[in-house]
Amino acid sequence: MDRFIYEAAPARVIFGAGMLATLGDELDRLGFKRALVLSTPEQRELAQRVHDSLDTRAVGLFDGAVMHVPVEVAKAAGQVADSLQADCTVAIGGGSTIGLGKAIALRSKRPVIAVPTTFAGSEMTAVWGLTENGVKTTGRDAAVLPRAVIYDSILLASLPTAMAGVSGMNAIAHCVEALYAIDANPVISLFAEQGIVALAEALPQLAEGKPLLRPGALARAQYGCWMAGMSLNGTSMALHHKLCHTLGGSLNLPHAQTHTVILPYATAYNANAAPEAMHRIALALGPFGRQGAARGLHELARAIGAPTSLAELGVARAALPKVAELATRAPYPNPRAVERDAILALLEQALTGEPPAADPLDD
Ligand code: NAD
Repeated sequence: MDRFIYEAAPARVIFGAGMLATLGDELDRLGFKRALVLSTPEQRELAQRVHDSLDTRAVGLFDGAVMHVPVEVAKAAGQVADSLQADCTVAIGGGSTIGLGKAIALRSKRPVIAVPTTFAGSEMTAVWGLTENGVKTTGRDAAVLPRAVIYDSILLASLPTAMAGVSGMNAIAHCVEALYAIDANPVISLFAEQGIVALAEALPQLAEGKPLLRPGALARAQYGCWMAGMSLNGTSMALHHKLCHTLGGSLNLPHAQTHTVILPYATAYNANAAPEAMHRIALALGPFGRQGAARGLHELARAIGAPTSLAELGVARAALPKVAELATRAPYPNPRAVERDAILALLEQALTGEPPAADPLDD
């Protein structure tokens, strides 16, 4: 077996429908007495209910979380935490709210208790992000990794179906790249495989709508996202993430939709350079994977009604050469060399949504 480094994330995970009810006990167990609850303005009602349920353990509610954590918002929330002498934050929401908790933790070391309500996976990572004057800076710091995470799938039932699908595909992208990462290791690879298995099963069921009638699928998808978050935290992401960051940054494309469109093509690009990872991805995709990893990811996206072409996201062919140029600069470590002409060909195929080549699994 190859040499590797595996660092376990120290978070405690409480998993299951209805487990939000254990939040108060969890704060008691950790010795926190003065929690500041965080949310977006849209999720204030939920946050207020959580705040009230904590009784005297909650000292306030800050509902100003917004996407990409602007420094002004982080500063304002930090001041509220200081003035209330909060000893921890409870971030209830998606990556934006958890990101705000992380920003407070970065400055003041106040621990974060995360209650995720999307599939983004930020709750499992020590990665923080802050945006100043439109420029986003990210980094890693052990202090921002949530101290405990409560995964309560009931909170996901209100996610719009279309958002759940692309958010889940975004999570699969973390698993796919973890399997061929430069620092892949056997432990994280198990999480990554499990993540793909769970999400490939659950997302088509969630795409049929009525998530409240499908509690099993919600919990299964949430489990997959937990695995995906650990995969993201435990390895270095590669070409696929670089392409999505470049497309998102230069063309202002929606995050999860871009991941959904690019993933089959980035996977096909790496197919010959990472055959073992491809085999594992294809098997994990279950019935979708019979024609190989890349084709299987494309079929899964189609099956859940997600966008499969850059054209659907409003991208014009004329924009692609610049994206190929930018994506080739300072590439993330990737199993296959990242070359401009080959990347342009990848983007052109993604533009049309033409299925990637099949690579059937041997029976
Ligand atoms: P989000 O947190 O921005 O939420 C989007 C909107 O959906 C918000 O209005 C929110 O209130 C609402 N919402 C959230 N959950 C809901 C639910 N269950 N029902 C109804 N509405 C709900 O979205 P996101 O995709 O979770 O997070 C995106 C942000 O997270 C980005 O800034 C991204 O960069 C960051 N992120 C960071 C990491 C990390 O490791 N640091 C990982 C993934 C994402």
